[in-house]
Amino acid sequence: MATNSRNPETVVLHAGYRSDPATTAVAVPIYQTTSFQFNSPEHAANLFALKELGNIYTRIMNPTTAVLEERVAQLEGGVAALALASGQAASMFAVQNIAQAGDNLVSSTDLYGGTWNLFANTMKQMGIECRFVDPSDPENFRRATDARTRCYYAETLPNPKLNVFPIAEVAKIGRELGVPLIMDNTAAPILCRPLDHGAAIVMHSTTKWIGGHGTSIGGIVVDGGNFDWEKHAARFPLLNQPDPSYHGAVWTQAVKPLGPIAYIIKMRVTLLRDIGAPMAPFNAFLFIQGLETLPLRLRQHCSNAVRVAEYLSKHPKVARVIFPGLMTGEAKRRADAALKGGYGALVGAELKGGRDAGRAFIANLKMFYHVANIGDARSLAIHPATTTHSQLTPDEQKQTGVTDGYVRLSIGIEHPDDIIADLDQALASV
Ligand code: PLP
Repeated sequence: MATNSRNPETVVLHAGYRSDPATTAVAVPIYQTTSFQFNSPEHAANLFALKELGNIYTRIMNPTTAVLEERVAQLEGGVAALALASGQAASMFAVQNIAQAGDNLVSSTDLYGGTWNLFANTMKQMGIECRFVDPSDPENFRRATDARTRCYYAETLPNPKLNVFPIAEVAKIGRELGVPLIMDNTAAPILCRPLDHGAAIVMHSTTKWIGGHGTSIGGIVVDGGNFDWEKHAARFPLLNQPDPSYHGAVWTQAVKPLGPIAYIIKMRVTLLRDIGAPMAPFNAFLFIQGLETLPLRLRQHCSNAVRVAEYLSKHPKVARVIFPGLMTGEAKRRADAALKGGYGALVGAELKGGRDAGRAFIANLKMFYHVANIGDARSLAIHPATTTHSQLTPDEQKQTGVTDGYVRLSIGIEHPDDIIADLDQALASV
């Protein structure tokens, strides 16, 4: 049988799967098929009517992807999950599942640029307003809330500032007002379980640490099963009023016998059905491979990051190191409240030589890869002011924590001495 363990090392290997029912294969097989044959016309009708859950068509579900979904759901302490083609699709679906034209969400300003664009521009075109607030004061979320607010949204460990989000504080405000908190936990898998701190929904770009090898784009949304959508029926008509696209199903009622999974089932059978963006079974297989060693890799990522942060903080050409473990005051308190077992793999450094030093440093790295990605097993680096954040005005750059000399490092799992040696020689040349 699959495991009931809470320990991540066991969950990533055993949750949701023991062996393949068709072949007894121990490794999760790749079910590279579009469709699944029905046993009978009655079976087919039952599946479509959600009287029975089962495989119909890979746009909506697939047995390989289902194992990844169960594992990540159990890892996060949630009740069910939905894997998608990318982290961007996961962010979009997480909000769109409960918000429509005329509604709004309140989001932290400390966001991945792609999510910022999605909320500020694409969702705006769909009539959903995003109200961005400074997370340093959790009460900003309350102040921005009104009757049409459908969710709060934030990242556990947002870069480049690396200020850990006050999950428990904002989740508490949301629960008082009937607003669920959606957390992007991409940069802190295992280190943080946002659902334990009161969040209602968690998403990941599995592209990053879960995949861990820089091979595939993917995303996942986890339903915490801990938010009372019925109690706040006026705020969530999409879950509490008859859905004309599904014979008038009321999602909070229709799937009650299956557990508190109204949110994620509705996402699967309406948004995924209509918009598409499923995760490909082959990518799900690669993410399962990545997930199996995630706890082990993460320990090395985190201990290497500490070594790098300490090394950089003593370097004469570095003005400031941005790393949760080296923060003080409220920022450190928040990091320690949310993260257990490490401070993540991201390290920021502001070079005294400004823009020219930042660019020269990146150009001179020999082992680090110069890429826009994070969360690879290899060490990665980028100079945000001239790349990821170059379209922002200098003022906007400052607000997002990007200064001219800022370099972002995603620390890999190489031997720490080799990581430091590469940084050392690159810094010597600026
Ligand atoms: N969330 C965070 C924190 C990210 O860093 C990224 C990508 O960089 C995304 C979401 C989007 O994920 P994807 O690139 O898989 O669409």
